[in-house]
Amino acid sequence: MKYVSTRGTAPRLDFEDAALTGLARDGGLYVPESWPTLSHDQIASFAGKPYAEVAADVIAPFMGHAMPSGDLREILARAYAPFRHPATAPLVQTGPNDFILELFHGPTLAFKDFAMQVLAPLMERALTRRGDRAAIIAATSGDTGGAAVEAFRERARIDLFVLHPEGRTSEVQRKQMTTVDAANVHNIAVRGNFDDAQAIVKALFNDHGFRDRHRLAAVNSINWARIMAQVVYYFTAAVSLGAPYRPVSFTVPTGNFGDIFAGYVAKQMGLPIDRLVIASNVNDILTRTLETGRYERGAVMPSSSPSMDIQVSSNFERLLFEMSGRDADLVRTQMDTLQQSGGFTLEPAQYDGLKELFAAARADEDETMNAIRVLYNATGYVADPHTAVGLHAACLCRGDDSVPMITLATAHPAKFPDAIRAAIGVSPELPETLRARLSAPEHYDVLDSDQAQIADYIAARTTDRAGLPA
Ligand SMILES: *Cc1c(COP(=O)(O)O)cnc(C)c1O
Repeated sequence: MKYVSTRGTAPRLDFEDAALTGLARDGGLYVPESWPTLSHDQIASFAGKPYAEVAADVIAPFMGHAMPSGDLREILARAYAPFRHPATAPLVQTGPNDFILELFHGPTLAFKDFAMQVLAPLMERALTRRGDRAAIIAATSGDTGGAAVEAFRERARIDLFVLHPEGRTSEVQRKQMTTVDAANVHNIAVRGNFDDAQAIVKALFNDHGFRDRHRLAAVNSINWARIMAQVVYYFTAAVSLGAPYRPVSFTVPTGNFGDIFAGYVAKQMGLPIDRLVIASNVNDILTRTLETGRYERGAVMPSSSPSMDIQVSSNFERLLFEMSGRDADLVRTQMDTLQQSGGFTLEPAQYDGLKELFAAARADEDETMNAIRVLYNATGYVADPHTAVGLHAACLCRGDDSVPMITLATAHPAKFPDAIRAAIGVSPELPETLRARLSAPEHYDVLDSDQAQIADYIAARTTDRAGLPA
């Protein structure tokens, strides 16, 4: 399996190189050259299988010959062992045909663990085979950072730099990143918002000299391997509700469009998905795009679902590429226009494709709080604010009542106790092991939102690759 860039001029790479690189050298994102498909019988055979085994079957076609099947199975079994629920990604029924897919039973209580726990051992294995090292640079709106720190701490061949927007993450989110005391983990609080931090990460990757000197690797959801790992739970959830014999719909609380793009991939692979609903908070660039056909950046507004406080959804580029019949020249032009003028109009084919595959709705702050309250009063279930944005959108975009609607619960409510208390007056409990750890001292540095300053900081803390044995 080869990977191509959405902007068409970066080299084609195999799986391992695409995973080690993250962002393509032309600024684009890697996608598989073609979508592998699973047969009806293969999908049916997932029923009742352990999560890690389904994961191996779903992931293997994307890896080509990157690793023997036994090694992949072992990596996946280890990756999902620390999850606190035996089903790994359990479904909870909350209405006659409404379900919540709980993706928060991993080590950092958010769905990002699903991919990061797989990506870390894959990268470490690839670097060991090559006798090389890498410096990971990640911008985080909250949950990516914690998941990355947990997955990459003490990996001998990797230095990890996590940029979070100062004061814009919840306390639990910040402490999950900063209370880990590991020599290879460096937390940077950037004086700015998430988009500022993400823009610096992109600029560092586009400085090819710097990039090669430190072998920069990206583990944001622009890294294909993350999307790939997230495809799996669409299969396990759908199959437990009757797929492939019966279609299901999903609503996905969306920021960078990574998680929902994984749903699109599952559909390309043959999973019968009826509707994919994009749920946004007040930072609603995607919902507006679906309404108007224009992709237009707005100002980022802080909300009670901070992991979705994003106005440029990186992974949307992958969908634009798909919806244009893989026209890399068009995507490159659109991304340049976005960079220069803050927006562009979708081509008719892109817009039609988008409307055919997706529905979208936004939840403002009151609607988010209300969704938490309504579900709690009806069932006693406590949903986190990101999940609540999804529940609101699911309700608005329900479609056919006979099709099960699965809303992805992307974080544990205890990560956002202030919002939960405000909504229902209840304090959600953190799992005991996490609570103990979060009282440890914090480690982070505060830097300006300035590329040169951050580049110097990184250079001073990475091993020079020139000194490594060949
Ligand atoms: C990252 C995150 C999201 C958004 O996911 P994308 O892949 O960026 O769309 C939603 N909810 C939570 C809790 C998250 O951590």
